[in-house]
Amino acid sequence: MIIDCHGHYTTAPKPLQDYREAQLNHLKDANAINAIPLPTISDDEIRESLEGAQLKLQRERGADLTIFSPRASAMAHHIGDANVSRRWTEVCNDLIQRVVALYPSNFVGVCQLPQSPASPPADSVRELERCVKELGFIGCNLNPDPSGGHWTSPPLTDRAWYPIYEKMVELDVPAMVHVSSSCNACFHATGAHYINADTTAFMQFIQGDLFKDFPTLRMIIPHGGGAVPYHWGRYRGLAQDMKRPPLPEHVLKNVFFDTCVYHQPGIDLLLKVIPVDNILFGSEMVGAVRGIDPETGQYYDDTKRYIDASSLSAADKQKIFEGNARRVFPRLDAKLTGR
Ligand SMILES: [Zn+2]
Repeated sequence: MIIDCHGHYTTAPKPLQDYREAQLNHLKDANAINAIPLPTISDDEIRESLEGAQLKLQRERGADLTIFSPRASAMAHHIGDANVSRRWTEVCNDLIQRVVALYPSNFVGVCQLPQSPASPPADSVRELERCVKELGFIGCNLNPDPSGGHWTSPPLTDRAWYPIYEKMVELDVPAMVHVSSSCNACFHATGAHYINADTTAFMQFIQGDLFKDFPTLRMIIPHGGGAVPYHWGRYRGLAQDMKRPPLPEHVLKNVFFDTCVYHQPGIDLLLKVIPVDNILFGSEMVGAVRGIDPETGQYYDDTKRYIDASSLSAADKQKIFEGNARRVFPRLDAKLTGR
């Protein structure tokens, strides 16, 4: 089976965006924010939004199941206050749950968290618990920079984040470390902010001792790990200079990378540098890069093609396509085993 660990509802029906626009028009007025009616979206609108997009591409490209979360760039935790973020997050997560209910064989849910720059991460614990226990979700997206490109939060290894990690461990769910849109003009969202954040998170994990405190905590760094695989020698060398343990024991029991790298040489490098047990198949479709590569005639984000074309053994490919995802997402494994 082919499990795509990284998909967002980028094609959600318009009433969702209308709800967000209503929020944006009343950011300073809590009473007005609280009075915005929930978006009305029919099952048919949901089907229509997926049939010509994610479901069509799943079928065409040969994936079976997508681990599906709200649109990452729209999380925009920097907009409004904690109340705005909480209401937006609940609406987005509830919509993912409806997608999963309509297509339980094609999608499984991962939540966004109601983070906000001025709120402690502990304030997101309740929504994580709701999504896992009540909505049946199997993981969360954790934004290391709710300020949207200004990096006002402490590093992910800081104790301020620990309440979320304690709940993740208790629920046995991983997090994908995933920023949202950028309100800093220096950083293009998907071209710079995303890749910066992936790289930044990995360096924070090297500097800290997070996985000593949480030996079973699991983090997925998306977009192929940002610059990390390409600069693996730098990170090994920095860890050595800083008297950190070797990376396999210091971080690789807990940190995983997806395959959202949009060309064959990039994937080949990822597969060569990062142990196969630490790589999960992902495409992030329909996502950041939607075009066709004129050099290959194929979609850039058709990442299954690159894994298929790699020199990995069939057993290693199976780990990347299925086995590793079932290990990193035990609640997914339980669902699939129970089918
Ligand atoms: Zn993403």
